Amino acid sequence: MIEQYAHHLAEIRSDMEVACERCGRQLGDVTLVAVSKNFDASVVQKVVSCGQRVFGENRCQEAEDKIARLPKDLEWHFIGQLQRNKVRRVLPLVKLIHSVDSLKLALHINHVAAELGLEAQVLLQLNLAAEKTKAGFSEQQLMSDWRELFRCSSLNIMGLMTVPPPVPDPEMNRPWFALLRRIQQNLAELSNRDLPFLSMGMSHDFAVAIEEGATHVRIGSRLFGDR
Ligand SMILES: *Cc1c(COP(=O)(O)O)cnc(C)c1O
Repeated sequence: MIEQYAHHLAEIRSDMEVACERCGRQLGDVTLVAVSKNFDASVVQKVVSCGQRVFGENRCQEAEDKIARLPKDLEWHFIGQLQRNKVRRVLPLVKLIHSVDSLKLALHINHVAAELGLEAQVLLQLNLAAEKTKAGFSEQQLMSDWRELFRCSSLNIMGLMTVPPPVPDPEMNRPWFALLRRIQQNLAELSNRDLPFLSMGMSHDFAVAIEEGATHVRIGSRLFGDR
């Protein structure tokens, strides 16, 4: 049922637009990353038919299988924990890796990208609430690692990403989104680099994230249905 996905997409776009209007931003400044993990290529194809072009996956094998079966002009992002032994396979497939969660992983991606003769576009993932179940830099860790991160010549660090704790009310995540933006601004000043991207906000809280400056919202269940 393509109509169902067209309807979900229209609703999401409309909510994104309202959030943009509330804070004086343009809809075109926010990229909707459709998180297609756990959904078959046949389902993703229906969403492609509705005009969606940017998709997010969190597993290497699943991404490879889907990408091979779908149109070549789509843009794929990697949003999940990336094992170092998968970097060589993932790098050529994706436009942006949202989930670089340690200096060690960053150094490895830099090394593999150099070998493959490409530049890896990445975001640094922060674990702001210091959740045991989640990977990512703490603010403190980032402050000690940033010089080495920005020395990686095959790594194009475009910004930051976070996944805040699950909460009943999206407003409860506003402080985490605001904090990620402050860290982004601070890091941009320290490093004297442009860090244009902020990947934050998922199905239940993307409107709040947009109000706090998100440039990429990662939306799964609201578009595809429950996994
Ligand atoms: C699954 C996932 C999403 C999408 O979550 P929904 O709540 O289904 O929108 C976003 N970001 C990451 C990192 C994910 O793993």
